[in-house]
Amino acid sequence: MNDREDARVMQAPVIQSSVPVAPARSLRVLSLAVLLAAMFPAVPSGRAVERPLRILASFYPMYVMTLNIVGDTPDVTVECLTRPFVGCLHDYQLTPGELVTLSRANVFVVNGAGMETFLDRAARQCPGLRIVEATHGVRLANDGNPHLWVSVSGAIAETEVIARGLAVADPSHAAAYQQNAANYVAKLDRLRAKMHAALDGLAHRDIITFHEAFPYFANEFKLNVVGVVEREPGSEPNARELADTIRLVRDSGVRAIFAEPQYPARSAGIIRQETGVPVSTLDPAATGDPDPARARDSYLRTMEQNLRVLTAALAD
Ligand SMILES: [Zn+2]
Repeated sequence: MNDREDARVMQAPVIQSSVPVAPARSLRVLSLAVLLAAMFPAVPSGRAVERPLRILASFYPMYVMTLNIVGDTPDVTVECLTRPFVGCLHDYQLTPGELVTLSRANVFVVNGAGMETFLDRAARQCPGLRIVEATHGVRLANDGNPHLWVSVSGAIAETEVIARGLAVADPSHAAAYQQNAANYVAKLDRLRAKMHAALDGLAHRDIITFHEAFPYFANEFKLNVVGVVEREPGSEPNARELADTIRLVRDSGVRAIFAEPQYPARSAGIIRQETGVPVSTLDPAATGDPDPARARDSYLRTMEQNLRVLTAALAD
């Protein structure tokens, strides 16, 4: 690495510490590395891993998972490419500055499944970039909906895929990534159990959401999404769609409509006025605090809040 690159690295927000990684499990790690090498034959072998290894996450959910997987691993930095309040990247165009940031990264952690519409172009422009796609090999809903992380099981699956990808990209830290991922998955697992305990017995299960972000979540907790007001943020429904939704709310007898905090929806107010059904806030955990220390637990906190909102809205 030359001096200029060193200087660049110093400017980047760095998450690292001097906590050494325990040299335990070396045999298991070795066999895992061999297995991973066989599973990902396209990975160029023998290339030295650049230090610090610069990992870039495409947007907030990927940032949160990657922070948890990297933990305090030394000589590895994790940044979020897009600003933490951007949320979903449907139709997002990278800024020139973001493209420069991307060109300096070693590993790019993305959701995939069409979320990062700029991905092909970015990959062409940054040929040395290693891309880790968190939905790779995970079964999606029939329509290919990319919001997998919004269900806790989806977040677990994506965390595990990212951890495997990082272990391949950075074999000398593979054990740390796998251990950190296992610790985070254990937390997600406890969260999922707590949510099932609270939600499985709810009397009312029909909900209406804004933004097509909740099918995996609804499927996991057996909620019925009977209507989606805005399919994607920013696309306010036209008058006829709004009228259809109002009719749907009345006919279905839903107890709650769920908007999202990051997408202020004028139409939510109209629907509430017309139907008298309250509008609550359900958060798809696509945005949050950029500070790494707070971002790590952001998904867990957001889902705890969603649990409180759902319980209040749907209980008898
Ligand atoms: Zn979305």
